[in-house]
Amino acid sequence: MQPFPDRFVERMQAWLGPEAEIFLRALAGPYRTGLRVNTLKIDPEAFRARSPFPLSPVPWCPEGFVIEDPEARPGLHPYHAAGLYYLQDPSAMAAAVLLDPQPGEWVLDLAAAPGGKTTHIAARMRNTGVLVANEIQPRRATILALNVERLGVTHAILTNESPQRLADRWEGLFDRVLVDAPCSGEGMFARDPEAIRAWSVDRVRRSAALQKAILFEAARMVRPGGWLLYATCTFAPEENEGVVDAFLKAHPDFDLVDPPRPPAFDRGRPEWVEGGDPRLTRAVRLWPHRGPGHGHFYALFRRDGEERPHRPKPESDLPGRARRALEAFWGETMARPLPDHGLILREDQIYWTPMAPALWRGLRVLRPGWWLGRLRKDRFEPDHALAMALRPEEVHQALDLALADPRVAAYLRGYPLEGLWKNGWVLIALEGFPLGWARAERGRLKNLYPRHLRAIGWWEVEAG
Ligand code: SAM
Repeated sequence: MQPFPDRFVERMQAWLGPEAEIFLRALAGPYRTGLRVNTLKIDPEAFRARSPFPLSPVPWCPEGFVIEDPEARPGLHPYHAAGLYYLQDPSAMAAAVLLDPQPGEWVLDLAAAPGGKTTHIAARMRNTGVLVANEIQPRRATILALNVERLGVTHAILTNESPQRLADRWEGLFDRVLVDAPCSGEGMFARDPEAIRAWSVDRVRRSAALQKAILFEAARMVRPGGWLLYATCTFAPEENEGVVDAFLKAHPDFDLVDPPRPPAFDRGRPEWVEGGDPRLTRAVRLWPHRGPGHGHFYALFRRDGEERPHRPKPESDLPGRARRALEAFWGETMARPLPDHGLILREDQIYWTPMAPALWRGLRVLRPGWWLGRLRKDRFEPDHALAMALRPEEVHQALDLALADPRVAAYLRGYPLEGLWKNGWVLIALEGFPLGWARAERGRLKNLYPRHLRAIGWWEVEAG
């Protein structure tokens, strides 16, 4: 492993004293993969009973586990393709626990890609309310979309905007806002040599300035009485207590909250920044030597007051041709009712949106909601995102396969499947969890598993 920068080691020794040695040893690894069960699809105990990997619990997150087998390849398993879990560092799982989003609320995740915290928040909200997941970098936003889709999230709007443009539009709109800020990434050192190479004190200072700017914009979007969570995956006080101290001084209407604290949740250190506000002890520090996970910093704020913003329900707005095509597909394929509001057409794509379009029109929106499918001439073709949020009993035709069935591998590799089917759409599932669509034509199933997902998988690793 790449050695840590001398200056980083000296700084940590100055702050931690004798504890620095065990901290540095733990930070050097080995890296243990965290797995968070996607409770939109399966509950943690049911997953544990079928888990292909040995798991141990994460003390602060009931749906979180550590994989206790360094040889495991959980990203290649068909359960991963079925969206049963997200691979996430246990320290990062504390974000949704601290933010504590509730079903039906409006929540904003301002720096969301690749989507670990977004998908956790969505699961805690049980796919209700509104979740806006924003990512400023277009390429990272695409990855966010893939994860949101794989995990079967339906109530998320994905935007590709700067915090300032969002704040200018959405003043006081959200119940809860998460800022998982770009940072110097010291907590990533064990798994990302690039984070070690890129580290410098100058980078820490530049990160702190950017974090302050993002956090100040984020605060504008919190409604009176709402919550704001600031997070980093770094240890540098400039980026943690320093940013929070500056925020508190400039925002007398926000107070720092002292959240419930499992034993591994250490306190913030006011003495590590000059003139630090004594309330900084209410912040949370997670360390790699004090629990599973590689380290995070959290500060939870509550805004004074109590105000419920006006949030209109989105009407459906489908031109007649699009509605007729969608209804024909729905009648032929689906065994659940068509949503009675929020159906919209965007170019040739039909979405269900949880948020009235007047609120997001004019912003860079990658996905205005659940992508149901496309209009091709006068026919509707369902999208993969629709499949991933369904259960086999919600469609008229499903092929539900057991894990050991060779057709699982065949489907995920893009091969056609044999079988006697009525012409139409068939949902392919693995033990009750959707994998994607196939189309039955003359007794054969045309494979519609998306080409960009047909990557090397567990079956090939096993065979090789
Ligand atoms: N929350 C994500 C998760 O759990 O998967 C990780 C987010 S990562 C720590 C920080 C994100 O901030 C990156 O995706 C990065 O592209 C984004 N970012 C970088 N500069 C930014 C800026 N000026 N404003 C907002 N976000 C920014």
